[in-house]
Amino acid sequence: MASAELQRLWKLSKIDSGLVEIRHKAANLDVGKKILAEIEELKKRDAADGGGYRKLAAELADLELAQKSLEEKIKKVEKELYGGKIVNPREVENFEKEIAIFKRQRDANDEKILALWEVIPPAKELSEKIDKLIAIKQAELAEKKKAAIALKGQLETEFARLTKLRPDATRGIPPILMAKYDGIRQRNGGIGMAEVTKKQTCSHCGTVMPERTVQGLKDDKVISCESCHSMLYYTEGVV
Ligand SMILES: [Zn+2]
Repeated sequence: MASAELQRLWKLSKIDSGLVEIRHKAANLDVGKKILAEIEELKKRDAADGGGYRKLAAELADLELAQKSLEEKIKKVEKELYGGKIVNPREVENFEKEIAIFKRQRDANDEKILALWEVIPPAKELSEKIDKLIAIKQAELAEKKKAAIALKGQLETEFARLTKLRPDATRGIPPILMAKYDGIRQRNGGIGMAEVTKKQTCSHCGTVMPERTVQGLKDDKVISCESCHSMLYYTEGVV
């Protein structure tokens, strides 16, 4: 049986290791980093593959606009030509030439538009597929963030609870023992004490305890793990 002082220290160390664990969990909260990376990947794909569709759609819009303007030009020139004001054959010829040029441009655009109508639907389908995947991942990310915020809240509550318990738990622990414990904690990532398991191993690092260590602990000596330097707590048959 460990001394009353060591028992108190063990209680305190449980609070401290709880605080360490909460800090660790808070530092490693899953806020969806992996999903975010997946979204970035999809966005890249969208820019590469889906971008094709956007380029084609823009091209089509430009062509349709150009067609409209050509139609207007043709109408305007035709109106002038057949308006009865132009009688000079030379002038008439020039107007007809101009109309012919506009019409050739219009026909060429029509061919381009038809070609675009062929390639746009599959490109659009691909782009929409990627957009859908992005939307799904973004919803997943939002869920992850929500869960992380909830967990953060729980951790903060638990941290406050343990912190409040700590001053009471330090009472009755001799300063020398406390200083030793604190020194180990500082060097050991906040962990100052471990218990000896049923299998006679250190609960912190798993090292098997030599028989003389176990005997020393039975004799109420303050002993640290040779491997991780945690102060050892021993209660026969309890752990
Ligand atoms: Zn150890």
